Amino acid sequence: MEFLEVPAALGLSNAEWTLLLDFFTFREEPLARLPHLCQMEPADLDGALERLVNLDLIVPKDRDGQPWYALAPLERWLDGLDGADADALAQERAQLRRLRSLLGLPSVTVVANREIQDRQTLHPEILRYAHALMPNVDLRLGTRCNLNCEYCLLGHEDRYDRSAAEVAADLAFAREQNLEKVAFTGGEPTMHPDLLRLVSVARRMGFREQILVTNGTTLPYPGRLDRLVEAGISAVGISFDSPDRETAETMWRSPVFDRVVAAFDQVARFPTLNLGSIAVVTARNFRQLPDLARFFVDLDGRIGNLFVPNLDFVMPEENAWLNRAVVVPRLSDVAPHVTEALRIAHGHGLPLTFRGFPPCILPGLERYAYDRYMTIFRLVRTADGPVFDRMSLDVLRTKAPGCRRCVHYRECTGVSRSYANLHGTDELRPVEAA
Ligand code: SF4
Repeated sequence: MEFLEVPAALGLSNAEWTLLLDFFTFREEPLARLPHLCQMEPADLDGALERLVNLDLIVPKDRDGQPWYALAPLERWLDGLDGADADALAQERAQLRRLRSLLGLPSVTVVANREIQDRQTLHPEILRYAHALMPNVDLRLGTRCNLNCEYCLLGHEDRYDRSAAEVAADLAFAREQNLEKVAFTGGEPTMHPDLLRLVSVARRMGFREQILVTNGTTLPYPGRLDRLVEAGISAVGISFDSPDRETAETMWRSPVFDRVVAAFDQVARFPTLNLGSIAVVTARNFRQLPDLARFFVDLDGRIGNLFVPNLDFVMPEENAWLNRAVVVPRLSDVAPHVTEALRIAHGHGLPLTFRGFPPCILPGLERYAYDRYMTIFRLVRTADGPVFDRMSLDVLRTKAPGCRRCVHYRECTGVSRSYANLHGTDELRPVEAA
């Protein structure tokens, strides 16, 4: 959902509204953390923050002599607003109140199949793969990892494993919601000391599809994958960013290229495992995407698994934000290389997909946009039972002012706010109806 009435009624610029929305996602934070947390350049943040404080929308606090900031109570400013469209304003108010009320409550993330009316616009093999894996509960076992990739979405400080009891509680909650598929993610899930036990527990609970999302580095250890498959793992997604050793190891900041390549061979020993591969597209590797497509084509020719690889545009958060100068390219610079990679893969019958590129950036390739096959939401545990929440994820995305004229407006999820903070939205050009 896009907010129009509330920012207009408050007279906020795009940067000010973006910053105000960020404050809906945390309680209070020190000034020093805000640029990193909100993914804004300090100079942009300072001006926007000053205006929001002057408007009494953000409240400064003193914590041990340090400046902290928090969202002003909603009843002080949200209820009295006037707007051109009273119904739309009321709806936006309700959404903002709901967003705030769900803050901090325990939840699980669900990746579900998206309802698309016109199936002709979907690719049958991608659809088969999507239906095999979704809907699933996306279960993070923690943030601990044996790598520290330069684009990682998790900060590398204070990495931790969640307890087996916590994870088991999430599994039970997901089963209560009739979910039968689970994706174990991290960090690196194979670093979790109880992974095997949790896979066995999930199978006993009735999960019939269990997906391991891994950096692949531990799969070549003797017997590792055999034990996981025996316990219940039925699909594997391996991160693989470049067939060029130097580029890949620069991105992963670790000399593990041979081990990750060997992980694909391990999966090939079990042809019934569905195999995915996720390449994060950054400024380091985008010129090599055609070579990556050739690597995937060669792999596909050697294995019997259902294989759908994906090119995932980097999200400028945490490590990727810290390293933004060398990691985050402009979408429009990357687009020709994605197009060429898709041409190569599709020419060999391999349904290479992409995520994070709006349709206006890759026109005519919509059936390979994996975003069109899936939708992500949270199931929040409240005192009144589970609540479905998309808003807290939707507010992380944004579009351009002209997007309302675009034929893709309803289906498109735009770009991340952090990307817009970095590169703006000038590249997003509305696609006219044919
Ligand atoms: S709605 Fe906006 S971002 Fe999406 S395809 Fe259209 S112009 Fe691009």
